[in-house]
Amino acid sequence: MSAPDELIRVSDELHLLEQVHMALGSSHSLDDFYAAMAGMLVDPKTLGFSRAFIIRFDDKLKQFQGRMAAGDEAGLKTEFMHYRADASALPADHVLSRAADSPQTIICKPGDTNLDGLEPVVQLPLVAARLKTRRGLHGVVIADRKFAGQPLDHLCTVRFQWLVSHACVMLDNVELVEELTDAAQRMREVDRLKTNFLSIVSHELRTPLTSIIGFVHLLREGKAGGVTDEQRDMLGRVANHSAHLQNMVNDILEIAEVEAGGIVNVTLQSVDPVAALNHVIPKAEARKSSRHVVIEPVVTGEVALVLTDPIALERIYYHLIDNAIKFIPDSGRVTIEFKETNHRLEITVADTGIGISPENLKQIFDHFYQVDYRLERAYNGMGIGLTVVKLLLDATGGILRITSAPGDGSRFTVSYPLAD
Ligand code: ADP
Repeated sequence: MSAPDELIRVSDELHLLEQVHMALGSSHSLDDFYAAMAGMLVDPKTLGFSRAFIIRFDDKLKQFQGRMAAGDEAGLKTEFMHYRADASALPADHVLSRAADSPQTIICKPGDTNLDGLEPVVQLPLVAARLKTRRGLHGVVIADRKFAGQPLDHLCTVRFQWLVSHACVMLDNVELVEELTDAAQRMREVDRLKTNFLSIVSHELRTPLTSIIGFVHLLREGKAGGVTDEQRDMLGRVANHSAHLQNMVNDILEIAEVEAGGIVNVTLQSVDPVAALNHVIPKAEARKSSRHVVIEPVVTGEVALVLTDPIALERIYYHLIDNAIKFIPDSGRVTIEFKETNHRLEITVADTGIGISPENLKQIFDHFYQVDYRLERAYNGMGIGLTVVKLLLDATGGILRITSAPGDGSRFTVSYPLAD
């Protein structure tokens, strides 16, 4: 064959492949898929077999159940017939057993194979190949050519082989998608159980914590008798740690609440961002412990009011400043800056801490994500602060921008529309 003829042949084959891909790919169900396949096999314009049998294997019944599509010289005529055979009773040389066992297409002639129940319809040389995926055997495809001038030549055997191989790949893909969908469904279910669990645990923890905080307060006030300075100092530490624990419990509850149906109790109103910050700074100061960290609001001139929820803004401040302090290894500075731009106010919490690498920046808002997740890590926390920040910002119309690099500190900028 000359080179141009060869090229035409290759392009014909590619065209055919494309048609097969389109026909099989547009099926909406397995039945459609097999019908499309049978149709292609007997279509004179594509594979041009006279008859095609799609014999599906039912794993539970251990039976082959078949359908036949028949073409004729004038065009496609699909006429279905049923075939049923008990797989375990089939002899080894039966066309179905042979095809099911062979990775290649097999060619059978009526004389050399036991066609058994297929005999009335298959009295001619035929090709057969199995439909098999990672999950197992789906069935066997059989095709023959009975019309004059249509020998079972090499080309039609090759075409048959790649149609069946292509169908196997597509079936494999469908199964993979099914498995992924199932896995995603299972993960959603596990996630829901986890959220329920967290919600119950945090509710249970809240009651005793409130009581601890209340009684420590009474003790510090001397309501149960006089306390020395040293005892007051110790009770102060218990109070600080309990308050921190209470914050964490509230964060977990907040996440559970959002996952169960969104943040409730958010009321947008005119909020003074400096006043909200002043509420948070004493709590944040308590988190510094013995480290030399300076928390410095940079307020030059009047700062505009913003449209947000005051409690949400305080929680956002708390988490951002808490992180800023936490991720400064020894000593450093946390500044809170305000800048008006394009009818919005930008509030930046900047620190001189360890910074975050670009690849970690993408993940720090995921629940429970921490750049350093080892138990022996240097910084404590549960990996939910930024998740809460993100959820609160989404609920109140705030936007967050981060600039950070390892060793260069971080800048978390939150922006809100002005309250006018
Ligand atoms: P947590 O602080 O409890 O670990 P977060 O959700 O608040 O959880 O933060 C997630 C992760 O993002 C942190 O573990 C840390 O790795 C990184 N991160 C957050 N803020 C900063 C910051 N200011 N500097 C450096 N890393 C930070």
